Amino acid sequence: MKYLLLYAALLLIVMLLYIGRRRRVQRAHATELQQAIEGGMAEPPSLHPVIDPVLCLGSSSCVRACPEEALGIVKGKAVLKNAAACIGHGACAAACPVEAITLVFGTERRGIDIPYVKPDFETNVPGIFIAGELGGMGLIRKAAEQGKQAIATIARRGRGGMDYDVVIIGAGPAGIAGGLAAIEKKMRYALLEQEESLGGAVYHYPRNKIAMTAPLDLPLIGKVRFSEVSKEKLLEFWHGVIHRTRLRVRVGEQMERIERSGDGFVVSTQHRSYRCGAVLLAIGRRGTPRKLEVPGEELSKVVYRLIDPEQYRDQHVLVVGGGDSAVEAALACAEHSPHVALSYRGAAFSRIKQKTRQALDSGVADGRLKLLLNSNVQAIESDSVVLDVNGSKLRLRNEAVIVSAGGVLPFDLLKSIGIDFETKHGTT
Ligand SMILES: Cc1cc2nc3c(=O)[nH]c(=O)nc-3n(C[C@H](O)[C@H](O)[C@H](O)COP(=O)(O)OP(=O)(O)OC[C@H]3O[C@@H](n4cnc5c(N)ncnc54)[C@H](O)[C@@H]3O)c2cc1C
Ligand code: SF4
Repeated sequence: MKYLLLYAALLLIVMLLYIGRRRRVQRAHATELQQAIEGGMAEPPSLHPVIDPVLCLGSSSCVRACPEEALGIVKGKAVLKNAAACIGHGACAAACPVEAITLVFGTERRGIDIPYVKPDFETNVPGIFIAGELGGMGLIRKAAEQGKQAIATIARRGRGGMDYDVVIIGAGPAGIAGGLAAIEKKMRYALLEQEESLGGAVYHYPRNKIAMTAPLDLPLIGKVRFSEVSKEKLLEFWHGVIHRTRLRVRVGEQMERIERSGDGFVVSTQHRSYRCGAVLLAIGRRGTPRKLEVPGEELSKVVYRLIDPEQYRDQHVLVVGGGDSAVEAALACAEHSPHVALSYRGAAFSRIKQKTRQALDSGVADGRLKLLLNSNVQAIESDSVVLDVNGSKLRLRNEAVIVSAGGVLPFDLLKSIGIDFETKHGTT
């Protein structure tokens, strides 16, 4: 009897500890969700889970399965507490024991434009194909698989009388796999990449981010078994592939126009035009960096991405933008220089993570960073920048400008050549 009571007491203690912990975790998840809503960060970027609260048992299997910590449990049910972090793996849906999770595109408030793509990856415009995230489905393995399959379809169609059988636009996983398939099939190809480096979205992951990917089956390379791999190792792998296969990536070439020409197309970049029989759009969903469209923007000191904050040591730097990446870039530069200013046209940062906001507030409070709200850059000169701040003109000494104002997807261009899109508001 004595032992029975002892076991019962121990069991009760364990249960109370468990319940206490579960309550604390749920409170923390509820706070995170509330902060996301208040910060205007509750809209997922693309494919994301919708949880049926009637079916959900609150088992937490989806929370454990999500590698991005996007899900949580609030009031005993799973919720997308950090929607901005969701990248649409679908690992949560696969882990749910009662099939309470459906993966959908867009929300009631924010529609997502998905181009019409046939199962062989051709759009409704014959000869123009789409692979990878632009078609709606993220993930490294899927993008690579689609790039490879799209090229297989183009190769089956045979050669036209143009200079290139195919022009592939974008050197992320979809474009690289497409390029390898084009070499394997002995096609005349051009692979264009707007940035100075390949890798696509992976190149922009936070430093040391661990990517999770199922095995890739790449033309000329074969099966590659990654499960968890750091961003740096993944980029190293892509560079190794390029070296081994001699895949030619034409970096720094941004597709600006696609026009019909006879049986094919002419793809124009800022440098030249390519006449081709088919086009594979593997441009992902990050878009082309938004420009300020102000005099002086063409100066070489203006960049659209922070690569190495160390390079701005002791320099007078202006960062422009109102999102997480702008604030993070300004804070990173401020670690190396006491002359960093952040310009944002809004009156407050309404769409940044709580953690970023706290870091910004302390950076401004202790004088590491100068914050210019309600400000617009008017001109960039060789050793200064001119801003309008609350209606007054301000000239700042300047050696570097980092514009971090998001990306523009070329949907108008794609629509103008006849590609149809469907706007999804929470459908599969
Ligand atoms: C933070 C984050 C974490 C992620 N983690 C994972 C993960 O762990 N596992 C996973 O499987 N997936 C992950 N993903 C998703 C994955 O990175 C993408 O689904 C994948 O990179 C899509 O490949 P893609 O080739 O379609 O497009 P992208 O990788 O976006 O590549 C498109 C390329 O096209 C170029 N381009 C665009 N426009 C033009 C133009 N006009 N002219 C020339 N070039 C152009 C771009 O510069 C870019 O290099 C993550 C995504 C993010 C944002
Ligand atoms: S789709 Fe992926 S990233 Fe999004 S919540 Fe599910 S497991 Fe997490």
